[in-house]
Amino acid sequence: MIGRFAPSPTGELHLGNFRTALAAHASVHAAGGTFLIRFEDLDMHNANMANAQKQLDDLAAIGVVAIETPVVQSERFDLYRDAIVRLIEAGVTYECFCSRKEILEAAQAPHGGQVMYPGTCRELTETARAERRAVRPGALRLRANGAKESFTDLIHGEVTGEVDDVVLRRNDGVPSYNIAVVVDDALQGVTEVVRGDDLLDVTANQVHLQKLLRYSTPVYAHVPLVVGEDGERLAKRHGAITLAHLTAQGISPTEVKDLLWASLGQTGDSFSWDAVPRAPWVAPLTHGKS
Ligand code: GLU
Repeated sequence: MIGRFAPSPTGELHLGNFRTALAAHASVHAAGGTFLIRFEDLDMHNANMANAQKQLDDLAAIGVVAIETPVVQSERFDLYRDAIVRLIEAGVTYECFCSRKEILEAAQAPHGGQVMYPGTCRELTETARAERRAVRPGALRLRANGAKESFTDLIHGEVTGEVDDVVLRRNDGVPSYNIAVVVDDALQGVTEVVRGDDLLDVTANQVHLQKLLRYSTPVYAHVPLVVGEDGERLAKRHGAITLAHLTAQGISPTEVKDLLWASLGQTGDSFSWDAVPRAPWVAPLTHGKS
């Protein structure tokens, strides 16, 4: 059993990230498996390795430690490109010249939280593609053909979702999150993917890519979001949500860990997914102890 936590090193981790990381780590630990940390820094405008080191230090402070050196996605572009070439050769890709604005304008209502690609460039002729390519380079999309995929989620049960024509390679040549995460989880032998449930809607895309690339599908656990007392997704305005802020308010990393452990419904030492609440967790600590 191999599990992982895969943060983006764009800033400091917050209570929601810690809670997911703690669940990922505890689940692996309970099964006697191997726990990995992977840095997802494909969006290099925001990511930097100083953030990554700070995230590792904060995770260690709440007891979430990986034995192996973390993998960093920006160092693995060749692996993602190989997978993209395999998909091109399998005939399941097409070039797309739409801007984000055009997609949003042409898209129908969001589909289960996901804005589905409206298909504008799906059937372009070679002449039309050449014309548009001369104006700006295209992105590369998956030709999903309206597929649906199912997967097992330890919190949400059996989940079925529609596969979107997701971007595989952006028009600046950078591989997309969806291809990178699928390649990395497969090559790292990950059998259990634990992450925030904001990613539940994109999982069918990833399962589809796993099948096309002949990778096995891991078991998923999408951990419900952490929200502030107003019910909104945790953000800076909610107060102390980073470990540094919590420590400054007199709340130690051990107290943070204990609070998160209890919020995951855990009472004993050994982790159980059955006890994890299905609803978002309202973080009580965001304004400090007093
Ligand atoms: N890097 C993603 C995030 O920080 C997580 C992706 C994943 O775990 O698959 O939200």
